[in-house]
This record gives sequence, structure tokens and C-alpha cells, in this order.
Amino acid sequence: MGKMYYEKDCDINYLNGKKIAIIGYGSQGHAHAMNLKDSGCDVCVGLRAGSKNWAAAEKAGLKVMTVADAAKWGDVVMILINDEVQAEVYKRDIEPNLEEGNALAFAHGFNIRYQQIVPPKGVDVFMAAPKGPGHTVRSQYVAGKGVPCLVAVEQNATGNAYKTALAYIAGIGGARAGVLETTFHDETETDLFGEQAVLCGGVVDLMRCGFEVLVEAGYSPENAYFECIHEMKLIIDLVNKGGVAMMNYSVSDTAEYGEYVSGPRVIPHEETKARMRAVLSDIQDGTFAGKWIAENKNGRTFFNSKRLQLAKHQMEEVGAELRKNMLWGDDADPDTASN
Ligand code: NAD
Ligand code: MG
Repeated sequence: MGKMYYEKDCDINYLNGKKIAIIGYGSQGHAHAMNLKDSGCDVCVGLRAGSKNWAAAEKAGLKVMTVADAAKWGDVVMILINDEVQAEVYKRDIEPNLEEGNALAFAHGFNIRYQQIVPPKGVDVFMAAPKGPGHTVRSQYVAGKGVPCLVAVEQNATGNAYKTALAYIAGIGGARAGVLETTFHDETETDLFGEQAVLCGGVVDLMRCGFEVLVEAGYSPENAYFECIHEMKLIIDLVNKGGVAMMNYSVSDTAEYGEYVSGPRVIPHEETKARMRAVLSDIQDGTFAGKWIAENKNGRTFFNSKRLQLAKHQMEEVGAELRKNMLWGDDADPDTASN
């Protein structure tokens, strides 16, 4: 296991007298800014002039400036805007305003790993990456808890980059849960692989195949949705809580026997692993990053057509209809909220 840090290892007072600029006020941005403010830090939010979020951040009691002004004001500049626009915003509004001894921070390593952002030598570069969505980073903090975080230092110009990073993570509440040390390199590559091969790519296609097989065999789409999609969350919650053993304990022995017999039939291990290795290789050699950067430069034609195609898939239409008619999926209920 890599090195872990807890609250006792993080000195939040190291941020005393330091100004923290949070660039962006989306999922992560609002949570980092609010948590740091509530931890007593001097925070401002950097936004585009005219941004819808400007009023929301001010209403939350936060100082708001343009991205360029915030970058100039801040000693620590945390970039929490969409990964695919970071390089452009960095070049235009942030880089010219970085001073020697400042710290540049990220919650994901993509732009550093693939050299879309190349920070000047004199600044610290660290990662403080909560392993959960922003609303959870906020709600856990308010509940006196925290979301576990990854910490990484890419550039330690001042010699104090770890101190700053760990103090920052304490400020957003992450140190209450635990902080695992990694590198920008490993965080980026494992994050991309996990979402592509398993979490988003793998799971969505697995559910889609199961749904289509049942519907094409003449079963009702509603049944197919329940069995292949709706129940996914219930199963995964059990795995998350107590491992596969707890999931198998909770389902019937018939289901567990079927898992052993049919799992390897639909996921042929050696072949699937070979395909996953090819996905990993594209991540490691920059092929995937290059394609994604080009896709964004070219107006996202492929991305948008895929998104539209999926929205029209029967499983999505049936799911939306069923959710509307079920007493389930209330976003206010943490057991059923969709994200
Ligand atoms: P988000 O889409 O929720 O928010 C992005 C914010 O950036 C929005 O407020 C948007 O208005 C703003 N923005 C977009 N373009 C801009 C521009 N040109 N200038 C100024 N502001 C602009 O994004 P997020 O999910 O909070 O992700 C932020 C970072 O956190 C990313 O690096 C992401 O990889 C990382 N991260 C996200 C999660 C997560 O679960 N959401 C978890 C860990 C790390
Ligand atoms: Mg991710």
C-alpha cells in the first residue's frame, strides 16, 4: 500500500496568510471553495466575467474575481474547470499571473501528464484529488467527515509542496478520511483506464448488451430495464460495502451459482484482459489523450453524435419513464440518488 496521511500529518495552519484561488465553481469548485472558507482559509473564486455562477458564489459568501485576477491574487491557484478547457484558460489567464513560489494545483492529472500545461520552474505543482463527486465533498465536510483524497507533487520548487498540499486537503476535509500518495502519472493513467475499461465504458456496454438481448428475445423492455440496469446499483452498493462476498451473501445461491457459471461466458477473461491491455496501452502512449484533444478542437462531432445516439436508445427512454413512475430515485435520498 502506498503512503497514507491522516489529520495528524496535515498542518492546516500552514495555509495561514496564504491566499487560495479556486478557478471554476462546478462540482469540485464549489465544494473546495466552501470547505476551505469554512475551515478559516482566505479563499476567492475565479470565474469568467458574466458567468452564471458569479452570483451563486457571492451568495455563498465567497469573494469572486475574474480568472486572471484570481490567479494574480492567489498564492495557491487550484484549477477546477473542465479538463479539456484548462490548457487554454491556463495559457491566457493563469500563466501570466503566476509568481515564483506560488503553487499550482489540480484535482486530476490529465493536463500535466500529457503536457497540455507546462508550469514554470519556480512554482510548486500538486494534486489534491477527492475520490468522490463535489457534492459529496461538501456534504461529508458539513457532516464533520471527509472524502478520501489522493495527493501528488509533480514539482517541488519551494521544498514545501507536500506541506501545502496536505494543508489544502485538510482544509477541504479530506484528511479526516485519509490521504493516499500517488503521482500525476499514475493517477491520470489509472483514472482514465478505470473509467474507460470498467466504470463507464465497460459497465454501460455490459448493461446495454444485457438489455438488448432480453428485448430482442421478446421480453418487455421494462423487465429488461429492471433486471439489467436498475439493479446494478443495488448490487454495486453491496460490493462497495462488504466486497463481493457480501454481495454474494445477500443474493440467492442460485444467483451466485449463475455468476460462477455464466460470468466467464460473457466476459472471457483472457480475451477481455487482452482488450483491456490495448486500452491501457493507448492511455500510456498518449494515443487516447491525443484523440480526445483533437476531438475537442474539431467541434466534438463524434462525441456529440454518440451522446445523441445513446439518449435515443430504448434503455434510456424506458428508464426515464420507469423512474418517473416509481417511488424511487429521489435525489434527496442518499440511498437512491443517481450520483
Ligand atoms: P464541472 O464541469 O462540474 O465544473 C467546471 C466549472 O468550470 C464550471 O463551473 C464551468 O462553468 C467552469 N468553466 C468551464 N469552462 C470555463 C472557462 N473557459 N473559464 C472559466 N470557467 C470555466 O467540473 P468538475 O467535475 O468539478 O471537474 C473539475 C476538475 O476536478 C477536473 O479536473 C476533474 O477531472 C476533477 N475531478 C472531478 C471529480 C468529479 O467527480 N466531478 C472528481 C475528482 C476530480
Ligand atoms: Mg475520474
